[in-house]
Amino acid sequence: MLALRAGRAFDGEHSVAGPVTVITENGTIKAVEQGHPDVPGAEVVDLGTATVLPGLIDTHVHLGADSENGALDRLPDFTPEHLDAVIEDGLERHLKAGVTTVRDLGDRDWSVLEQRSRHRQRVLASGPPITSPRGHCWSMGGEASGEDALRRAVRERAERRADVVKVMASGGFATPGTAVSDCQFTEQELRVVVEEAHAHGLPVTAHAHSLASVHRAVAAGVDGIEHCTCLTDRGMQAPVELMDALAEAEIAVCHTLGSTQEPPPFILEQFERAGMSLAAKIGIVGRMYDHGVKAVNGTDGGIGAPKAHGITPYALGNMVEAGIPNAVVLASATSQAARALSVSKGVLKPGWDADIIAVQGNPMRDISALHTVTTVVIGGQIVTTTLPMDRRE
Ligand SMILES: [Zn+2]
Repeated sequence: MLALRAGRAFDGEHSVAGPVTVITENGTIKAVEQGHPDVPGAEVVDLGTATVLPGLIDTHVHLGADSENGALDRLPDFTPEHLDAVIEDGLERHLKAGVTTVRDLGDRDWSVLEQRSRHRQRVLASGPPITSPRGHCWSMGGEASGEDALRRAVRERAERRADVVKVMASGGFATPGTAVSDCQFTEQELRVVVEEAHAHGLPVTAHAHSLASVHRAVAAGVDGIEHCTCLTDRGMQAPVELMDALAEAEIAVCHTLGSTQEPPPFILEQFERAGMSLAAKIGIVGRMYDHGVKAVNGTDGGIGAPKAHGITPYALGNMVEAGIPNAVVLASATSQAARALSVSKGVLKPGWDADIIAVQGNPMRDISALHTVTTVVIGGQIVTTTLPMDRRE
């Protein structure tokens, strides 16, 4: 039993004025109390003026990717031992950023999915994304062509107990020979994937850069859209009808924001050719919020040096730049993300999983407070803390 004393809290949706004490028992949250009451039998941890909030969730990572440029291309070269080390390193980086749950949206040959229960953090996984022959990320092993093969591919994911079906609705930047402006599947093919997945109780999320592919994914009834870049031959365009449709269907949109440096030149060239820029992206993210589109935090962590694992604080910073209120931004990485993943996390209320972080300062006022994670609790256990031991009784 833990009693975490803190300056204030964010409960996954709202700010909770402090001081507060979060009490955990048997891996779940037992109570969130005002003030610092005595809690008999509890280990008291004094977090001082820190803000406590639910452990953060990154809904789009690639744990097999090593946070260096060209990471996805090198996947086939990794030995099992090296891959294990890469996965551990990635999770460690997420932990430093306060991320206690990740969803892996593309591994090679089920390598992350099969090992997903070995880790301290909660790892959900899709396995290899379903893609067209030689389509985006084909080397992960998820090629399928035609409705029968697509149904078989979904059934294989259900048998392997995948947490989600990831389908590549458009090409991608990282795979030579695929075009971000192309659609990889017809609307009917995407509908088949959704139908089969839903019949097995699995959600579907679609990687979609081109506007046409976003339209198709929405029409096919997907549960989530990754990137949602809305590329056209006139740059990035998000029509009002599309935003309304995304909001109406409550599709979880993961904008894959966040970066710590400029992309490498070969990616920058592609961005320029496609009419993409961070400023335009941030503009679309803000407009989608204004239209009621539900955003969830996801970073595409691991795929390159600018997109290393653990960049969630940067991604949430981008959302604030887009004009989204801090509480909504924080919810996108806590309660909203948890809802999209169907996990009992992301909320600081009795009965929810006791995955809790403390940050210095107040992220409801200044989102950059997320860069100073001081304590991480997973399942009611303190996993890391920078606190001196005398703060614990
Ligand atoms: Zn990705």
